[in-house]
Amino acid sequence: MRDKKELVQNLKNSGYLKTQKVVKAFIDTPRDDFIPKKSRDYAYADQPLPIGKGQTISAPHMVAMMTELLEPEAKDKVLEVGGGSGYQAAILSRLVKKVYSIEVDPELVSFAKANLRRVGIKNVEMILGDGSKGYPKEKPYDKIMVTCATPEIFDSWINQLKMRGVLLAPVGGGFYQELIKVRKTKKGLEQRNHGGCVFVPLRH
Ligand code: SAH
Repeated sequence: MRDKKELVQNLKNSGYLKTQKVVKAFIDTPRDDFIPKKSRDYAYADQPLPIGKGQTISAPHMVAMMTELLEPEAKDKVLEVGGGSGYQAAILSRLVKKVYSIEVDPELVSFAKANLRRVGIKNVEMILGDGSKGYPKEKPYDKIMVTCATPEIFDSWINQLKMRGVLLAPVGGGFYQELIKVRKTKKGLEQRNHGGCVFVPLRH
């Protein structure tokens, strides 16, 4: 699809897409399959779009930025908090061994599962639940990506992260957050702020 090529080229030019394997993950993953029919014409515009239940699929530049920052590796087991449409999980699935994606809304879990099935992705498990507690059943994770706005980085996430593991989360209030990257080390948590962002809030 021409639109997708253009979007990927723009994300490369603007520096959001940096590594060849992440570029390939974007090319191999049709975003239109993760968007309800009525907004599909806008699938390759760089903007968030409604996916129902007041939730949104993140803008492609944000997915690109977060995917690059997570430093995905082929051996990784990743936890995503906020499954939504399943698109971010689909992108990660091309880059890592296994993705566990937890989503609090049952209708969105069904939506994401159907989308992932249609695209033929088999290494993502969508789980219905409250991701603020992580997903202890499959711990520890190499990486954790939170895609809903969280007031804080919960201990449960850090506890479920491997040593040297990376966690990425939009931390802040309901209208504005900062994208925080945390690396768990023997000396404690290394934190870096990657700037402002806007995500829908985490709900319990
Ligand atoms: N990553 C998604 C977009 C996420 S939007 C995508 O690629 O489409 C944020 C999602 O977080 C919403 O679907 C919302 O329902 C979900 N969410 C909110 N609170 C949550 C919680 N406590 N646990 C898991 N998911 C949650």
